[in-house]
Amino acid sequence: MNSASTTKTILFWMSIVLLGVMLWKLVSADGSHSRENQINYSEFMAKVDEGDIKEVTLYLGQNSYDLWGRDVRSDRGFHLTLFKEAAPAVTEQLREKGVVVKIKEERSADWVLLLLNGLPLLLLAGFCLFLMRRVQAVGWRGTKWQPRETRTGIGYDLHRLEEGRPLIVGGIELPFDRGPVGHSDGDVLAHALCDALLGAARLGDIGTHFPDTDPKWKGAHSLLFLEHAKKLLADKNFAIEHVDAVVITEKPKLGPHFPKMREALGKALGIPAEKIHLKAKTNEGVDAIGRGEAIAAHVVATLSSR
Ligand code: MG
Repeated sequence: MNSASTTKTILFWMSIVLLGVMLWKLVSADGSHSRENQINYSEFMAKVDEGDIKEVTLYLGQNSYDLWGRDVRSDRGFHLTLFKEAAPAVTEQLREKGVVVKIKEERSADWVLLLLNGLPLLLLAGFCLFLMRRVQAVGWRGTKWQPRETRTGIGYDLHRLEEGRPLIVGGIELPFDRGPVGHSDGDVLAHALCDALLGAARLGDIGTHFPDTDPKWKGAHSLLFLEHAKKLLADKNFAIEHVDAVVITEKPKLGPHFPKMREALGKALGIPAEKIHLKAKTNEGVDAIGRGEAIAAHVVATLSSR
């Protein structure tokens, strides 16, 4: 999964958590109101006189104090607000009646409560940001839920080899006395890879986008084709998950050059070289490839929708 997909997944789950927290707060709000009713001073003192209140907590605020407690008879919480000036007398009165009075700093200083109250807003902001980015990137259709899709494409290419031409495979020039004949640089691996990517995305083939009748592509470096394919895939919101390829030639040995090829191909496609796997085969002396007259490549590419 690339970083963009990871970010979107995180934002998606943030939005799910947001909805969960909001629902929880909605449900718990009803519950808390029923459990912790606000009562007036007369009702409170009546409960004290009846011995229904054994302990209260006084939260010290800037301008007023909040008194919280529990009615032991009904097992229901309650709270009431006291004027700051009245608090000392009430506290003394309660203690005389045998009620335990605990005094604490302002309840709003409770960081857990602050976090719980602020979290939905933060998550809402994250969700809005996610929607804005999504709409910017792919329009309103990006806001619709679409299941992730995996696509596979196959590509194949073959070029004749002639003496005196540069042998370019996977974007790298290899030391050899023969090279491919082609309108572009004849890079069979890049061409097959391009076809595999375009095929997986249902975007035609390399000939559709880079016709060999167009002089613009004469002698072109084939990594340009891959860079263009990368843009086409991005426009369709596809990410490249994996590439597996086999290059078939009698000579030269390709294995030692694979690290540089993977690096060059990965750079052109904007993906890590680890996502590209290369293999080499000979044709056991059979047919044109076996006689050293041609080079070929097969590629399978896997894409995922973002
Ligand atoms: Mg070709």
